Amino acid sequence: MASVEQTTAGCTDSATTIAVENPATGEQITTVPVLSAADLEAMAGRARAAQPGWEELGFDGRARVLRRAQKWMLDNPDRVIDIVVSETGKTHEDAQLADFGYTMTALGFWAKEAAGYLADERLPSWNNPLAAGKKLTIRYAPVGLIGVIGPWNYPIANSFGDCIPALAAGNSVILKPSEVTPLSSLLMAEMMRECGLPEYVFQVATGDGATGAALIEQVDCVMFTGSTKTGRAVMRAAAEKLVPCYLELGGKDPMIVCADANLDRAANAAAFYSMNNAGQVCISIERCYVESPIYDEFVRKVTDNVLKLRQGAPQGVGTVEVGAVIFPPQLEIVADHVRDAVEKGAKVLTGGHSRPGPGRFYEPTVLVDVDHSMKCMQEETFGPTLPIMRVADADEAVRLANDSEYGLQASVWTGDVKRGEAIARRLQAGSVCVNDAQMNYAALNLPMGGWKASGMGTRHGANGIRKYTKVQSLLITRYALKREPFMFPYRPGRTLALRRMLKLLYGRRSGD
Ligand code: NAD
Repeated sequence: MASVEQTTAGCTDSATTIAVENPATGEQITTVPVLSAADLEAMAGRARAAQPGWEELGFDGRARVLRRAQKWMLDNPDRVIDIVVSETGKTHEDAQLADFGYTMTALGFWAKEAAGYLADERLPSWNNPLAAGKKLTIRYAPVGLIGVIGPWNYPIANSFGDCIPALAAGNSVILKPSEVTPLSSLLMAEMMRECGLPEYVFQVATGDGATGAALIEQVDCVMFTGSTKTGRAVMRAAAEKLVPCYLELGGKDPMIVCADANLDRAANAAAFYSMNNAGQVCISIERCYVESPIYDEFVRKVTDNVLKLRQGAPQGVGTVEVGAVIFPPQLEIVADHVRDAVEKGAKVLTGGHSRPGPGRFYEPTVLVDVDHSMKCMQEETFGPTLPIMRVADADEAVRLANDSEYGLQASVWTGDVKRGEAIARRLQAGSVCVNDAQMNYAALNLPMGGWKASGMGTRHGANGIRKYTKVQSLLITRYALKREPFMFPYRPGRTLALRRMLKLLYGRRSGD
């Protein structure tokens, strides 16, 4: 396990600590310090001093460190997966696919692609009469110090994962992991040190919301992943500092199942993408709309699938499908949404209760007879629940899917992929999958980000790294006159000649 002392040595004299627990057993694993504003200021100073050397290494030098880290992960799968499982209570399979698999892939992806995405861009000048003949170039320069603030549900993928492109672009990074899952990030810091990352280029600041707020005070750019409520506070703080901030927030992802869908695939996917990581996935299927002709059969198949799921504290690979719920307040939200739905007329087909400890679990739950007056169809549940609603047709499904403050992701299931794409284009969501869900996150060249209250900006793709840079525009005049015709002194002849030139250029095209 990563030692806290290693990463925070010399950073803190904080007397305050947070206990880190295993949600599947309720046992305390260790404690970590809550870093103060003064600690963050000192860390930022060291990060800024280290950044120019890291930038000077260039893309190849930085890629070498990232590739070494990829190899380190490949050599240490159990260490990485076990630490994630211990502090989240999730299954080994989820930690392996998302935290381990994604992050290893991302290290290689950004090592390979950073140079291309951030290469200088030459622009034509012939279409700008006054700038014609000049050399026009866009350059992407690292911003300097990036603050990444992460959630607990994917403590490596959604925290360290967003640090990788920031580092590849030549920045220093301070990561503030969730207070409930700091150990995975500390392990990533240990990994980067062992792989030759220069000291203080990547640091982990353990602590709570106040530590996150203190981090924003120190950095040149904020990358935040977490709830919409905290995202609003982060954006306010970033506005006060006048630094860019990117927000990856909550969701209420709809699944639309058309009558011509492959029902087995759709039912398997509905069970998996609503229950994986106990439903604690930002892009979890949170509500399902099914065209009337196949509704009964679909509900039967999904319920059968969910009934077969094993739940409990993971005891190694292949032991359970559904792990723990992270902490008591989250368990209470899930219970509240189910209670609210039942009070308003919903029926529970399976599950519907939290399970007694040790550990924190909520039974995989399928709800029917639901409608949009219920919290389970409107608010982010973030638990192992799947409310399924009958709709007359895809038009009704689209209307209901868009009836949400969120717009993170959505999915459409149909045998007619052309129709599926047409439906996808009508959905108000940053990403839409047809006959799939969540897998767009694995396509690292495809931008991923929310619409509406689900966020601002994107990760992955070109913008996933350009957002960590400052754009510098370069105009170089190579063939220079002694004096430009529009320069002093002003003479009527030259002014009128310039006017004739503009008329000649645009006169025939402008206006009706
Ligand atoms: P959260 O908003 O409670 O906390 C996220 C982080 O913000 C934590 O590290 C926390 O300490 C920090 N924080 C709290 N107050 C702060 C403040 N005032 N200033 C700065 N930082 C502060 O979220 P959570 O419960 O950890 O995560 C679950 C949420 O994250 C869900 O809503 C989920 O949908 C969302 N999420 C979104 C994505 C995405 O890509 N869109 C991915 C994963 C999780």
